[in-house]
Amino acid sequence: MSIESGLSTATKDFLVRSHGHFINGQWVASDSGETFAVHNPANGEVIAHCAAGGEAEIDRAVKAARAAFEGPWSRFTSAQRSRVLWKIADLIEQNFQQLCELEILDNGLPTPLAQYVCGMVVPEFFRYYAGWPTKIEGATIPASPQGKLPGQVFSYTLREPIGVVGAITPWNSPLPMVMLKIAPTLATGCTLVLKPAELTPLTAMRLAELCAEAGVPDGVINIVNGFGDTAGAALAAHPSVDKIAFTGSTEVGRKIIHAAAGNLKKVTLELGGKSPVVIFDDAKLEEAIPGAARACFFLQGQNCMAGTRLFVHEYVHDQVVEGIAAAARAMKIGPGLDPSSEFGPLISAEQRNRVASYVEAGLIEGAELACGGKALSSPGYFYEPTILTQTQPDMTPVCNEIFGPVLCVQRFGDDDLDDVVKAANSTIYGLSGSVWTRDLGTAMQMVRRIDSGQVSVNMHAAIDPAMPFGGNKQSGWGREFGKEGLEPYLKTKGISITW
Ligand code: NAP
Ligand code: MG
Repeated sequence: MSIESGLSTATKDFLVRSHGHFINGQWVASDSGETFAVHNPANGEVIAHCAAGGEAEIDRAVKAARAAFEGPWSRFTSAQRSRVLWKIADLIEQNFQQLCELEILDNGLPTPLAQYVCGMVVPEFFRYYAGWPTKIEGATIPASPQGKLPGQVFSYTLREPIGVVGAITPWNSPLPMVMLKIAPTLATGCTLVLKPAELTPLTAMRLAELCAEAGVPDGVINIVNGFGDTAGAALAAHPSVDKIAFTGSTEVGRKIIHAAAGNLKKVTLELGGKSPVVIFDDAKLEEAIPGAARACFFLQGQNCMAGTRLFVHEYVHDQVVEGIAAAARAMKIGPGLDPSSEFGPLISAEQRNRVASYVEAGLIEGAELACGGKALSSPGYFYEPTILTQTQPDMTPVCNEIFGPVLCVQRFGDDDLDDVVKAANSTIYGLSGSVWTRDLGTAMQMVRRIDSGQVSVNMHAAIDPAMPFGGNKQSGWGREFGKEGLEPYLKTKGISITW
């Protein structure tokens, strides 16, 4: 009996539906009739078919979003928006099993991680943002425009929703990526047209339905499925979209900026990373070793925050490398639906081949293999967790984002923080990073000097709904999460009244 036969009826029923675009509260097909297949990366099998949208569908969705923005949604009070966000969180919990199964089938992540994402991360994020609508406030300003005296003029600011938001998301963590766009949209009173990654569209579609069930009016949340260079490009260029929220690669981020230039839409970008993990010789190794293994191999390394460049003090270098290699070898590799699997497949054959080619390039350039380095011969796109040692800053796998389970280790020889900082910062990216030490002075200096949007001490990728997250350098523009994550969805109006 296959593992898939144990899926819930809700999941089986969802998969066999004909999946269109969610526009103005209705499921609709593409004008062209074109579709694409959705695969399970654990075995390569087709699990669903989806309509492939283009310019026509994007235009219909943007018009629906504009009408909803100016119509019914604009009459929702902030308290009503709070209640809707809270209700979405409840519905996510009520549909926990189905969302977990769809996310695993689509993306391949292991069951415990899917349970954490669908049971904790996503509902708690919606509840956090449910608290914001009633707290979005302007200010009264002690201004004297045109020489008015106090008492002759009243000046204040209004924080208004920016309008129609276009969102484009990647495949590596499908549901959280969509959550990051929907929650601030609803909290601020914007409307949304979202194009999910063509490789993983399932939970985005289901979440759109749950939003409708929670009372979000038609046209507020629209989903257009399809490919990046057609549907995605049409959304980024659409003249009636006010803002683009993009998460994906740095390369596509640049294309988004160009496409957005036509109507100068506002742009936020959450892009790639190549984050450093720095282990000093005084670190508590029994925590640093599993911490560094998780930092790199979490989500099979298909994680923008992944700590893929390890800098380790020479006194503890061998012990740390051996420890992480032992942890990597012990990970049970297998389909995410098998609850005992700890390490799932990569998203596609293409991605697996890409990872393999980076490892090969590193070995040719002089790196050494401490563990892994092979694709599995079983069906699906599995690739072993891999460690390359003796790496140098200019080696191909060190300077490129691999987006796979490959840890590149460099050693440092003394406690000259300048050198360690320089090495850690020698990348075009600046997304995350971690420092492992028991010395508070070392930690405090390192967190200030690592040029990343997030740095953690004795932990990696410390994500929380309330903590702003985003990239420095070529890792992005702007922040998501927390109060700062609302800012790109708002605009400020300065108002002065005299009488
Ligand atoms: P990607 O290739 O850049 O694709 C991201 C999204 O953009 C997909 O929906 C894609 O559509 C679409 N797209 C592609 N070309 C486009 C174009 N010309 N115009 C508009 N949209 C276009 O990235 P990915 O491979 O899906 O995801 C991996 C990347 O995402 C990594 O670099 C990772 O670091 C980054 N990421 C960053 C964060 C963060 O918070 N900073 C979080 C997660 C991932 P298709 O589905 O058709 O390709
Ligand atoms: Mg898939």
